[in-house]
Amino acid sequence: MIPLAQPDIGETEIQYVTDVLRSGTLSMGRYVDAFEAAVARRTGNRFAIAVSSGTAGLQTVLAAWNLGPGDEVVTTPFSFVASANVILLQGAQPVFVDIEPETYNLDPDRIEAAITPRTKAILPVDVFGHPAALEQIREVASRHGLRVLEDACESLGSTLGGRPTGHPAFCDAAVFAFYPNKQITTGEGGLIVTSDEALAETCRSLRNQGRGRDGEWLHHVRLGFNFRMDELSAAVGVAQLERLDAILAAREAVAAHYTRRLQDLPGVRPPAVRPGVRLAWFVYVVLLDRGIDRDRVAKSLSDQGVPTRPYFAPIHLQPYYRSRFGWRPGAFPVTEDIGSRTLALPFFTRMAPEQVDYVADALARAINSAS
Ligand SMILES: *Cc1c(COP(=O)(O)O)cnc(C)c1O
Repeated sequence: MIPLAQPDIGETEIQYVTDVLRSGTLSMGRYVDAFEAAVARRTGNRFAIAVSSGTAGLQTVLAAWNLGPGDEVVTTPFSFVASANVILLQGAQPVFVDIEPETYNLDPDRIEAAITPRTKAILPVDVFGHPAALEQIREVASRHGLRVLEDACESLGSTLGGRPTGHPAFCDAAVFAFYPNKQITTGEGGLIVTSDEALAETCRSLRNQGRGRDGEWLHHVRLGFNFRMDELSAAVGVAQLERLDAILAAREAVAAHYTRRLQDLPGVRPPAVRPGVRLAWFVYVVLLDRGIDRDRVAKSLSDQGVPTRPYFAPIHLQPYYRSRFGWRPGAFPVTEDIGSRTLALPFFTRMAPEQVDYVADALARAINSAS
């Protein structure tokens, strides 16, 4: 049985975690500091704030901007649900805009039509690690005086025009996530990057129960969360980050092998990578031709010991969104079309070429039986 995803944990991770356990400092110590400094440097930012999850990071930035009832945020319906949920959790309104069929990212040409006097920010998502049209989005945002929060939870290590996702040229703040299926993991964890000093300070305070700048323990200057990342998680993150380039190279090799095997398979489109993009591979998601029954393909693969996942089910059609907002199929046709045909195949850093071959052969058999 091949897993759908699997973290790549080495001896250094174990050594650093042991170091934390022996040190007695399990929270707010040197591993969190080191992890933050390393990601800030890597993404060209002045500040980084490690938090307990990617979702917590996104919510912290929206809270720091004081987003609330009456405010709107333009975002994509083709994403993991958290990128829209955080807007609702702040009491603001997600305004969905359909996606580009090639990269599955927010279509920059449709954004302007969605902007109203209530719009406060744009929240693009780097879907499956592929950078959104960040330059164009930034330009639309500046023209309308809007902030950009980049959901880079799937794109640590990706670059666009030579710049890393999360770079201050692209956004006011970005958030990375480290759940075990991401490029690198901390168990649970996330991290905010920004070069805006005031925003960084507010996020630090919000993460830490609204404590003031001096961190005095029983002095709370604003309404805050406990979204701190613990030292054990950060220790894993520091070790993972030391190997990030090797991890990305290994994932790229797995993806390249998949693409070699699948590019001539009728009915299947491998992921597209735009010119100017270096993709830090998060998942390997194929697009099936219309007319192929995805459920049957998935069932056949499952019968052959290959797990898959239909990434993503559109957010606006999730039961909660349907019942709260009355969304129906047809609202975002590109998102719904792509969402009905994509299938994530097993993909992880240490996936062996023979495992990729096995999945590719199994997929060919599955397509034959389902078309
Ligand atoms: C993983 C992910 C998140 C949230 O990360 P968690 O750490 O699981 O909270 C948010 N947005 C996207 C697009 C993600 O893939």
